[in-house]
Amino acid sequence: MNSHIMPTYARQPISFVRGEGSYLYTEDGTAYLDALTGIAVCGLGHCHPAITQAITEQASSLVHTSNLFGIDWQEKAADKLCQAAGMQQVFFANSGAEANECALKIARLYAHNQGKAKPKVIVMENSFHGRTLLTVSATANPKARAGFYTLDDEFVRVPFGEADAVAALSGDPDICAVLVEPIQGEGGLHTPPDDYLEKLSKICKDNDWLLMLDEVQTGNGRTGKYFAYQYSTIAPDVLTTAKGLGNGFPIGACMVNNKAVGLFGAGSHGSTYGGTPLGSRVVCAVYDVLDEAIMDNARTQGDAIRAHIVDKFGAQGVSARGRGMMIGFAMPKEVDLTEAVNIARDQHHLIINVTGGNVIRLLPALNLSKQDTDLLIDKMTDLLVGLFNQSH
Ligand SMILES: *Cc1c(COP(=O)(O)O)cnc(C)c1O
Repeated sequence: MNSHIMPTYARQPISFVRGEGSYLYTEDGTAYLDALTGIAVCGLGHCHPAITQAITEQASSLVHTSNLFGIDWQEKAADKLCQAAGMQQVFFANSGAEANECALKIARLYAHNQGKAKPKVIVMENSFHGRTLLTVSATANPKARAGFYTLDDEFVRVPFGEADAVAALSGDPDICAVLVEPIQGEGGLHTPPDDYLEKLSKICKDNDWLLMLDEVQTGNGRTGKYFAYQYSTIAPDVLTTAKGLGNGFPIGACMVNNKAVGLFGAGSHGSTYGGTPLGSRVVCAVYDVLDEAIMDNARTQGDAIRAHIVDKFGAQGVSARGRGMMIGFAMPKEVDLTEAVNIARDQHHLIINVTGGNVIRLLPALNLSKQDTDLLIDKMTDLLVGLFNQSH
């Protein structure tokens, strides 16, 4: 133990010195196909030239002033993001957890205005919302919560994907909002029934609750739409995002619509760094690049990866989850995934992730080429063949 870094992560014994598109390179020049993109962050690939140009140009003209002043790039970023998201206004934060904190503050203020003294928010089993005290309390994973004296009386937890469980809480005078991921990321790539959001939206309308979607991971084209809720017909009241928003530059956003507009005034919320000229310009560049063709590619290649793997291994009990470039493969329980990440990396030069419930998780770049999609399918095939052989 000679690192001065707190050991909050079990780090893999490798580090990369360069990234380009869907590849990461070690010091000695070895290339790794990156099917994780920094956990759904570098959706446009590593060091996308337009993003690099935006960062370098803005870094050499103006990095930071303060939200005490007008910030033209922040106005532009807000226009582009709200346009793509179908939302009215945005608050820029610096991470997903902060974006969700902002959403939860909005929910409390909304409840306060309704005269609710001890408001509660409905959250889901297997949810992940971040690591601040309030967002970790909204998170389901006992490991993330253990020892932190979480604020459980602020939340009511129900099974994910079951609108009836939310409907059963109708009329509860303390509830003010529902917070939900359209597809659960960290919790194991759980995809709800197609009409789930429509049902939740109706329940929220009937009860005067806010419908708050955590699209920190599913947003910014990840599922093949700007935001995953756009596969439905609903209009959320609050929408948070982060991961793909800056393609690696740390920035988050909490957006409002409908009855959530107008709750915050001067002094209600703030962030020293939120929406700097630099961060905002990166958001503009991301949204200039992220177009229908890239999202179409995310759907096509994502579907191809799912189809090929299920075609080859479905009979052995492998099933596919997720949408677009948010891809999960639930493995039968006899397949031990403990070493899967290491085997993929060392034997196949493929970067993947394993998540809750024996699921292999792939979060490739949205613009993964056809050629790299084929390579990814080949590498995954080799990996799974090996894992199945091991389990016999
Ligand atoms: C990653 C994630 C968060 C937390 O984002 P940070 O930037 O790590 O704070 C919150 N919600 C979801 C759904 C996420 O995937």
